[in-house]
Amino acid sequence: MTNFSLFQGDICRLPVDAIVNAANNSLLGGGGVDGAIHRAAGPELLNYCRTLNGCDTGDAKISPGYLLRAQYVIHTVGPIWRGGAEGEAALLASCYKRSLEIACQYQLKTLAFPAISCGVYGYPNAAATKLAIAALFDSLSSKQNTLEQIVLVAFSDQMAAYWQAGLGAQKLNWSHYKCL
Ligand code: ADP
Repeated sequence: MTNFSLFQGDICRLPVDAIVNAANNSLLGGGGVDGAIHRAAGPELLNYCRTLNGCDTGDAKISPGYLLRAQYVIHTVGPIWRGGAEGEAALLASCYKRSLEIACQYQLKTLAFPAISCGVYGYPNAAATKLAIAALFDSLSSKQNTLEQIVLVAFSDQMAAYWQAGLGAQKLNWSHYKCL
């Protein structure tokens, strides 16, 4: 059984097996959560990411976490919102599914997600969080699932409310994540 929890604050602080990064196609760093993760992990993360040869939208790649408390970073590239008719929903669902697949390949137990595409990529936040939870819930039913805990991370009160609404819509039990 995988438990869901909600954390409001900086994803870089979390002592989980891996944090997911909402990266861009270059994987060479950017603003928002990507910038925060690179700053917290230190310059070795960028050196490693240079060897990954970028990442397609909807796909994910893993790196060490370096100076982070998390052992790994799973970098995924969300879609830029272009009105909704350009496959954005399928691409966003794929980000969550591919991140989970990689986490399970590495036999990880705890994984934290930011709200992918909900910042500068402009995906409508309520729809994005609802879709994210449905995509996660779907993937967790696979036989290969090793995850015991998924932490959904909100940087703002508004995003925390959206995550909570999404968890409620899926009728999932969840708790507040306590970060020591
Ligand atoms: P994208 O380009 O995929 O939209 P952003 O980094 O711009 O990615 O935003 C994704 C989400 O991450 C937004 O909800 C933003 O508020 C949030 N965010 C930004 N910095 C952090 C952080 N340090 N920890 C957790 N979430 C963050």
